[in-house]
Amino acid sequence: MSHRILILPGDGIGPEIVAEAEKVVTALQADFGLDAEVEHARLGGQAVDAEGAPLPESTLARAREADAILLGAVGGPKWEAIDRPLRPERGLLAIRAELGLFANLRPALLFPELAGASALRPEVVAGLDMLIVRELTGGIYFGEPRGLRIREDGVREGFNTLRYGEDEIERIGRAAFTAAQRRNGRLCSVDKANVLESSELWREVMERLAPEYPDVSLSHMYVDNAAMQLVRAPKQFDVIVTGNLFGDILSDCAAMLTGSIGMLPSASLDETGKGLYEPVHGSAPDIAGRDAANPLATILSLAMLLRYSLDEGALADRVEAAVGRVLGQGLRTPDIAGEGEPVVGTTAMGDAVVAAL
Ligand code: ATP
Ligand code: MG
Repeated sequence: MSHRILILPGDGIGPEIVAEAEKVVTALQADFGLDAEVEHARLGGQAVDAEGAPLPESTLARAREADAILLGAVGGPKWEAIDRPLRPERGLLAIRAELGLFANLRPALLFPELAGASALRPEVVAGLDMLIVRELTGGIYFGEPRGLRIREDGVREGFNTLRYGEDEIERIGRAAFTAAQRRNGRLCSVDKANVLESSELWREVMERLAPEYPDVSLSHMYVDNAAMQLVRAPKQFDVIVTGNLFGDILSDCAAMLTGSIGMLPSASLDETGKGLYEPVHGSAPDIAGRDAANPLATILSLAMLLRYSLDEGALADRVEAAVGRVLGQGLRTPDIAGEGEPVVGTTAMGDAVVAAL
């Protein structure tokens, strides 16, 4: 059965980087048997301009029908002053909510060729290849009650509630165990079970799921130790699963281990494995239209799309290997070039990946 891929180019460098990923899709269709139909729709500022809403109904309808969505980036100075409901970022938040994308997958992958880009010693990070699975729609960011109130002594206090239901923990757990099965079979669940009841339940549910995934070994770590271990010896990790707040912090920390925002992909998945894939970086209006953006984060997001939503793991491996190869050939966009190193543009980088396939 043919897969349906919806492409949302978005704003700023979005259309430029997505165009390079699309070249890779075309090559996979032509030469490697990928059976996929590709459609396009508008999201973000381009949708506001053309259709008067950051997430038009027609885009949402097509997103619901697609098996996977590849997004460039949304937003830019042009739309910063408009009414809140019309802001491009609202479109992104809305599509995530409408599609029920509760599992956020963020790999931290450092190609050995780029080990110099990290702030850490090469022996600590070279070859780093880990994945953080973050719960995205629950926990303290959404728990009720929440708010600001005035205490009896007249002093204001702010409060939030950290809540996780067994059902929520189970579904993020399943997403993480499945991801670990597709990688190296090691899952570390990060919590604060020595202090938090919600974490105690989290740990219990993870343990309960473990026997269903005999090919995955499960371990647990407190979040403070996990932060330390990420910086001290990140290569000990394969997959980390954690809640919304801890995941927010740890995934940014892990991302910076790699040192390059132009190289980082992400995925947000629903219960059926359908997902929205996008680079971690934004629309970079400062370099838009100059053939200077690094398309590799988007191409690596496409690799994730192939692996997690289309179950085309072999093609995903192939795309990632092609990216490694162009880096090995010394090709660098400006963001990943060392001092004095020659640079290539967005389109040349995309062409090189296709050639390396
Ligand atoms: P957002 O709020 O959408 O996250 P932002 O303003 O925080 O956006 P980015 O748009 O990611 O951040 O840009 C941050 C910096 O990184 C900018 O200087 C931008 O040019 C650079 N940058 C981002 N993405 C890329 C890329 N793909 N290639 C090269 N440079 C990039
Ligand atoms: Mg930002």
